[in-house]
Amino acid sequence: MTKELNNLLEEYNEMKALGLSFNLSRGKPNKEQLDLSNGLLDIFDSGSDFIDEAGLDVRNYGEPTGIKEAKELFGAILDVPSENVILWGNSSLHGIFEFISRSYTHGVNGSTPWSKLDKVKWLCPVPGYDRHFKISEYFGMEMINIPMDEHGPDMYMIEQYVKDPSVKGIWCVPAYSNPTGITYSDEVVRRFARLKPAAKDFRIYWDCAYIVHHLYNGHNDKLLNLYKELEKNHNEDLVYIFASTSKITFAGSGIAAVAASPANIKHISLGLGMETICFDRLNQLRHVRFLKDLDNVNEHMKKHADIIRPKFETVLKWLDTVKDIAWFTKPNGGYFVSIFVKEGTASKVIARCKECGLTLTDAGCAYPYHKDPYDSHIRLAPTYLEANEIEPAMKILTLAIKIEYELSND
Ligand code: PMP
Repeated sequence: MTKELNNLLEEYNEMKALGLSFNLSRGKPNKEQLDLSNGLLDIFDSGSDFIDEAGLDVRNYGEPTGIKEAKELFGAILDVPSENVILWGNSSLHGIFEFISRSYTHGVNGSTPWSKLDKVKWLCPVPGYDRHFKISEYFGMEMINIPMDEHGPDMYMIEQYVKDPSVKGIWCVPAYSNPTGITYSDEVVRRFARLKPAAKDFRIYWDCAYIVHHLYNGHNDKLLNLYKELEKNHNEDLVYIFASTSKITFAGSGIAAVAASPANIKHISLGLGMETICFDRLNQLRHVRFLKDLDNVNEHMKKHADIIRPKFETVLKWLDTVKDIAWFTKPNGGYFVSIFVKEGTASKVIARCKECGLTLTDAGCAYPYHKDPYDSHIRLAPTYLEANEIEPAMKILTLAIKIEYELSND
């Protein structure tokens, strides 16, 4: 054992003896961030005006696709016409799951239900969002890894795969991606817009969970508008766009929306009046009254950024100490940082952190079937911890990375 490794192990054991307990595994807002939206709770009291722009009382049953002013708010956030937006409960994942489920039972806009097909294949940019992959797994899709770089997924691979009619869709988190934090380049978006899949029921699931979640004022990534690019190519049925206020207001009590072409909206809306007479319209109206418009949303997001930016900076400061043996992303927004440690060591690093009280997302979580082919990727979610907890947590992580690197060379 080298002296270097000996010293590292000594330091690690000292940390372990402190009996610490931290969790950097899930992308959740912390209390301070949630408190930013407590004004939502003051929007209504028993004497409030509950009437929406359409003149309807939001406490009562009403328009199942959502109130007009909430559609306008999401239209502004996603830069799509508000007629192309429908509201969907409180969670975008709910909409996503529902669309996939309906594709299996009823098909997409009149196509053969996927449950009647021998095989449904799905493209999965990796590393990606574990909950997307779980949905694919649940429905028994065959998932195909598509490598990502700093510009987005490998478009050449995608262009080849979509020639196969059993390939029915792709997961995308195009802005401040989960988990790498990168934003798709203009060229990548344009190539998506030009896709001509063999399957007419192929859909891009464009999950804009972090579309207004910039960290550095003035250094915002700019995502090209896929919907407008698709329109230029008369290809707008290709996409479903999802967003929610989960990371803007209250993660468990926000509002969610889907934007899509008129033809898609017509089909999606068909099932809605049966599934529910309407979603929570009171919550839709109070969100609109609280968030007001896009400018105000951006101002509100700056307050989030002020809380979480120092946490990201601390994470990056510590990662800099392992920059010779690990590669990591430096996102301008979103909720995550990706680290790529020496091949074959990610699961060992994660286990070593766990032993020392630091919980990270499981090894392989950002890959279909939980299989990171290189056992190299680690996802960090710095928002939930208190700022003063990030320092010791990152000390543990960087020690574990160094130790496992040294042990792999031993
Ligand atoms: N999509 C992505 C990419 C996410 O990271 C998250 C939250 N972790 C979600 C969707 C969940 O969003 P919602 O709360 O609107 O379901």
